[in-house]
Amino acid sequence: MDPAHKPRPFLAGLLAVLLLGLAAALLIALCAGPAAAGGPAAPPEHAIPLCVHLAGPEDGHPPLRAFLEAAVPRAQELLGPAGARFEVRGTRAGEPAERAVQNAAERDALAAHAGEAGCVHVFLLPRLGDLERKDLDIAGRHWRYQGKDRRLRGRRYVLVAPASARVDTLAHELGHYFGLGHRAERQNLMKQLPRDPAPGLTPAQLRVVSRTLRSFR
Ligand SMILES: [Zn+2]
Repeated sequence: MDPAHKPRPFLAGLLAVLLLGLAAALLIALCAGPAAAGGPAAPPEHAIPLCVHLAGPEDGHPPLRAFLEAAVPRAQELLGPAGARFEVRGTRAGEPAERAVQNAAERDALAAHAGEAGCVHVFLLPRLGDLERKDLDIAGRHWRYQGKDRRLRGRRYVLVAPASARVDTLAHELGHYFGLGHRAERQNLMKQLPRDPAPGLTPAQLRVVSRTLRSFR
């Protein structure tokens, strides 16, 4: 056996292993490339129908409808990055028949109109009263039925009074609906009024909304 020729098969094998390793590494890098370049993947989209109820008689509806036309795109802009895709499924007039919702019992009474499943029920009201201060109107509330009727338990809905609200109030209340609490920073959508004219949500808040959207039925 010639000792000078002995290492050659070993070297050839080593070279083959190295080349294979290099090819595998290149393949992995190519596969991982686009995701790494694009950052975190966008959250999956969830269609969220809005069932809208317009309170009071017909003559009070034009300002409510005008508010809706501006507020839904604003909610889309603010909560869309979490994967929400809002669409108005329909509007129903005269629910409730009264123009104002002043107390907890009247808020609970709205649950009777919020039975359609797979829909976020939104009540647009000419006036929404504060529960503590009778002389005060508020902009909006996310409300969970608190009455004694077992059939209505668990129903949740959003109340907005356009006369006292801002165009982003619907987005704020939908933020509550999809799991967000209040924040103190003025530039955050979940700050109670007053807040900055163009507020936003943090990546952590968007992740909370994204998770909650997944369980929406
Ligand atoms: Zn709030």
